[in-house]
Amino acid sequence: MSELPFSVSCPTCRKTVVWNEESAYRPFCSKRCRDVDLGAWSFEEYRIPGAPVAPEDLPDEIDEEDKPH
Ligand SMILES: [Zn+2]
Repeated sequence: MSELPFSVSCPTCRKTVVWNEESAYRPFCSKRCRDVDLGAWSFEEYRIPGAPVAPEDLPDEIDEEDKPH
């Protein structure tokens, strides 16, 4: 199994990136995608992909709900 190429998804564009010496910008697929991600960080616009959290979904009263009244 160790001969199978390890691959990841580019954090910027989700393109499959083979994790080897040829992928100089891994886990990004290209220098452009890496720069986009770093730029997003610097402008504080980076968001965790696929994990949006709405304020109303936060369990702020979970302790009260777990207690028997
Ligand atoms: Zn990419």
